[in-house]
Amino acid sequence: MKARTHDLAAATALLGAVIIVPDLPTMTLATVVTAFIANQLGGIAPDIDQPTAPFWRNLPIGGIFGRMVGKMLGGHRFITHSIIGMVLVGFLLKLFLAFVQPILPSVQMDIVWWAFMIGMASHLMMDSFTKEGVPWLLPIPVKFGIPPVKHFRITTGKWTENFVAFPLLLIIVAALVAANYTDLWLFLHQNIVR
Ligand SMILES: [Zn+2]
Repeated sequence: MKARTHDLAAATALLGAVIIVPDLPTMTLATVVTAFIANQLGGIAPDIDQPTAPFWRNLPIGGIFGRMVGKMLGGHRFITHSIIGMVLVGFLLKLFLAFVQPILPSVQMDIVWWAFMIGMASHLMMDSFTKEGVPWLLPIPVKFGIPPVKHFRITTGKWTENFVAFPLLLIIVAALVAANYTDLWLFLHQNIVR
């Protein structure tokens, strides 16, 4: 799927988490901003195994690097698109965030970690709706999809992604906001320290 679909899906999942998780802690504004950025990065992170990923396209020699990293990670939709890959990334991210914590003392790194992981999980979920499927259970080399019958799944970049998946996500966001308006309003006013 395209990066913008993944970014919207990541934000949708994050919104869902804000609504579902009870008793969210009070957050600093720095945490909220960093968490949102982390969420968006998490949403596209698995596609670093793809030489044409936007992540690589923006770098001058990104094409070469992208291909190298892609090869190292086993080609598109391999380790970064699996549960074991998520656990590995989650572990490395924990170490990284603990390392930068002293530089950013006002950022609650546990929230940032969750926001990134939610973004990453949403990526695997979204890719599962495509014809290619996702090797969730690597090293078991089977790609899973929703629904299991390939014919009913989405082809990346085709009209089903642009005119069904993307608008559907927008509708979900609008519906979530509308249905939980008061709770979200309270969350913004009570849980965020300015
Ligand atoms: Zn992907």
